[in-house]
Amino acid sequence: MEEKIKRLLASVVHPETGQDIVSSGFIEHTASAEGKVTVVLRFAKARDPFAVKIKNQAESLLCEAFPGAEVLVVIKEGGAAPRPEPKLKTTTGGIARVIAVASGKGGVGKSTVTANLAIALRNMGFRVGVLDADIYGPSQPKMFGVEGYVPEAVAEDGVDHIVPAESMDVKLMSIGFFIKPTDALLWRGAMAVSALKQMIHQTRWGTLDFLLTDLPPGTGDVHLSIISELKIDAAVIVSTPQQIAVADVVRGVEMFRNENVNIPVAGIVENMAWFTPAELPENRYYIFGRGGARAYAEKNGVEFLGEIPIIQSIMDGADAGTPAAGIDFRVEEHYRGIAEKIVGKVMKNG
Ligand code: ADP
Repeated sequence: MEEKIKRLLASVVHPETGQDIVSSGFIEHTASAEGKVTVVLRFAKARDPFAVKIKNQAESLLCEAFPGAEVLVVIKEGGAAPRPEPKLKTTTGGIARVIAVASGKGGVGKSTVTANLAIALRNMGFRVGVLDADIYGPSQPKMFGVEGYVPEAVAEDGVDHIVPAESMDVKLMSIGFFIKPTDALLWRGAMAVSALKQMIHQTRWGTLDFLLTDLPPGTGDVHLSIISELKIDAAVIVSTPQQIAVADVVRGVEMFRNENVNIPVAGIVENMAWFTPAELPENRYYIFGRGGARAYAEKNGVEFLGEIPIIQSIMDGADAGTPAAGIDFRVEEHYRGIAEKIVGKVMKNG
C-alpha cells in the first residue's frame, strides 16, 4: 500500500527543480489504514510557493487511486531540508527593491508600462534595471532598441556573470536574448524556469534602486518560480478598461495576495484609458469604457495608481526602441505620477 502511494506520488514533479517529489525527498511520512490515506509533505523553504499546488496534485492522484478512502495530505514547512540546497551565489545582492509588473491578459500594455515606468524612475534619479521574464512575448529588447544584443559571460571571482544590455541608463536582461520569438511557445515549464533563474542570479546587475520585472501575462509556474527566487517588494497590475472586470485580473491580484506568496499589490494601472487625437487635444474619448479600473480598485481594496491614455508616441516609442516617457513630456507626466505612488508605497513598506 505504501509502495503504491509512493509510486503515485513519484509522478508529481516540483516545477522549480523539475524532479519528482519522492526522489527529491519531499515525502516525510505516508500511512494507510482503515480507509484512510495520510501523507506528510515536508518543504524545506518556509514559503515554498509550489506547496499548495503540489498538495492538490497529490490529493487528487490519491483520491483517484483509492476511491472511497479519506485522503489527507499535510504540508509542513521549514525544518530539516529534504536535500541540500545548492549554495547559489547571486548577483541580486545590490538590488534594493523589486517591482513585478503583471497583467491578466497579453496585449494590455504591460511591457510598455514596464519600460516607461523604468524611464520615469530613472528620470527621478533612481538606478533602474528591467528583467524581462515574459517568455511568451519578450518585448523589452525592442522597446529599448537592443534587439539582437548577445549577452556576454564574464568570469568574476570564479563565477560566470552575464552582462546585461544597457539602454537609456537602464540595465536590461531579457529571456528574448536567449530564445527566438518563434521558439517561445516551446519554452514552457522547467526550461524557462531554469533559464530565468540563471538570468536572475547571474546577471551583473550591480547596484540598483529598482528592478522591474516584466512577468508573462496571467498566472502560472513562471510567476511562482520568480516569486520564490526574488524578494518582490510590490506588484503592479496593468489592465485596459475593458479587461478590468475579467477573471484574469482578479486571479492576478489573488496570486500575489495568496498566503503562501504574500506580496503587497501596489495597485492597478489603467492603460489605454482614453484617446485624445492630436488635433483635438482637449477632447477625451473613452473608447473602451470609463471608470472601471477605479471602481474595481475601490471594491477590492487595491490602490488605483493612475491611468495612461492611448497616445501615438507611446506606440511609436515602443516601435522605435525609445520608451516615450524619455522623449515626450506628456507621457512622462502620466508615468511620473504613477512612479511616485509606487515609490511612496514601497518605501513605506520598509
Ligand atoms: P503586453 O505586454 O501587455 O502584451 P504591450 O506592452 O506589448 O502589451 O503593448 C501592446 C501594444 O499596444 C504595443 O504595440 C504598444 O505599443 C501598444 N500600446 C500599449 N500602451 C499604449 C498606449 N497607452 N498608447 C498607445 N499604444 C499603446
